[in-house]
Amino acid sequence: MCGTTQSRILHYYGNRHAFSHQATLCCSRMAAACQRVRSSLPLLVILGATGTGKSKLAIELGQRLGGEIISADSMQIYKGLDIITNKVTPEEQQLCKHHMISIVDPLVSTYTVVEFRNKALSLIEDIFGRKKIPIVVGGTNYYIESLLWKVLIDQKERNISPSETWEDTVKASPPNLKKELETLDSQELHRRLREVDPEMAARLHPHDKRKVARSLQVYEETGIPHSKLIHQQQQADGGGPLGGPLRFQDPCILWLNADLAALDKRLDQRVDDMLDAGLLDELKDFHDRYNQEKVVNKSQDYEHGIFQSIGFKEFHEYLTMGDHFTEEDRQKLLKKGIEALKQATKRYARKQNKWVRNRFLKRPGVSVLPVYGLDVTDVAQWKESVLKPALHIVESFMKGEKPALEPVKVDYDKNENKRSHHVCELCDKIILGDREWTAHLKSKSHLHHTRKRRKLEAKECPAEQKRDAQRAEATRENPDGADTLTTV
Ligand SMILES: [Zn+2]
Repeated sequence: MCGTTQSRILHYYGNRHAFSHQATLCCSRMAAACQRVRSSLPLLVILGATGTGKSKLAIELGQRLGGEIISADSMQIYKGLDIITNKVTPEEQQLCKHHMISIVDPLVSTYTVVEFRNKALSLIEDIFGRKKIPIVVGGTNYYIESLLWKVLIDQKERNISPSETWEDTVKASPPNLKKELETLDSQELHRRLREVDPEMAARLHPHDKRKVARSLQVYEETGIPHSKLIHQQQQADGGGPLGGPLRFQDPCILWLNADLAALDKRLDQRVDDMLDAGLLDELKDFHDRYNQEKVVNKSQDYEHGIFQSIGFKEFHEYLTMGDHFTEEDRQKLLKKGIEALKQATKRYARKQNKWVRNRFLKRPGVSVLPVYGLDVTDVAQWKESVLKPALHIVESFMKGEKPALEPVKVDYDKNENKRSHHVCELCDKIILGDREWTAHLKSKSHLHHTRKRRKLEAKECPAEQKRDAQRAEATRENPDGADTLTTV
């Protein structure tokens, strides 16, 4: 409530689109100022897992309210693979203007989030300038975060992509660091980081070699510990533990979500629809044009650019099988590809929803944005349960009013520390995060090590043996606890 009130005032004081200072008025004064708010166009963001109908809603809202759509999808940005990346059709693009779709050559493997951000921000300014609503639809987590929060540290013109690999990191490092990165193992690199930036070292797992290297790089190039730079960003007006301050004041955020079973069913159906729409021809054609040669040279790479698309690598075996394969084998590989595609799509949908929960609904700090949830489970009720409330919410924002619907609320422990550092000497493991630590203490592997240790101690001290047996018995009664940990 307070956040919303505060942002309305900032409208009133002007410059809502490139806002960068924080109001410190108390709530009652804000409420008074609220009365004088004038209306203005909001930035509209439509979130939702794949298959929740974001594009459909975006087009409807764009047509009715006068908007233009900016796709925030790191695969749709590339030319090609239109079916598998689920691009809007040319007919749909006729209904409402779309941007950021099919603008990068498929052989480019280095399109970065910074390039996306810069282009999308200038589009947003342009659309606002034409008195229309920019509608960001996505998609890709880090694309959307880069637009809503000032989260990226621009470091000496070098753009960091989250899909950057170890080799990319090494290549981009200054010569003396490059040598270290090539020769030292992850433990030694972590030790190096501990010397120059102990705070960052404590936040990173030694196994996370790429992030460790990245922090060493920042120190090497700027002479300032990475953790200190992050603190500076967080302490900027409106910054929070996850990064910098908000870029746009009071964006309108809609989140489409569905009952999981219903969504799974819809996603399976969508894969079948894609097959009907010519998915296999699309994949074969794309493979022949861009991938076949790489496969022959054994240089295929499913980690970069459009080649990471869900649904391309899943058909690798099918697309690369030789002429000697029997029809039966072909059908088997095809079926395997389709099944893998269905599984990967469902996994991705869960990941996208988890991101909305963690980075929006449970976001720590002050730069938290209200998110309005819309239930898309029942397709037959779409107009009533999705379109109508969505129109109400956006129109309220346009008038500078509070929507009658409440944003999504989630109960969570605000004090939980996700980056806290724990060492389990018994298991020889480093565990980051309070919740992970609690889970570790209950995990099978930890209990196993506990029992082993007690047995050892009992051997050294037989008098302990009886008590040990009793304790072990008690432990066995509590056998659950997830074990999702990494060993040092
Ligand atoms: Zn342990």
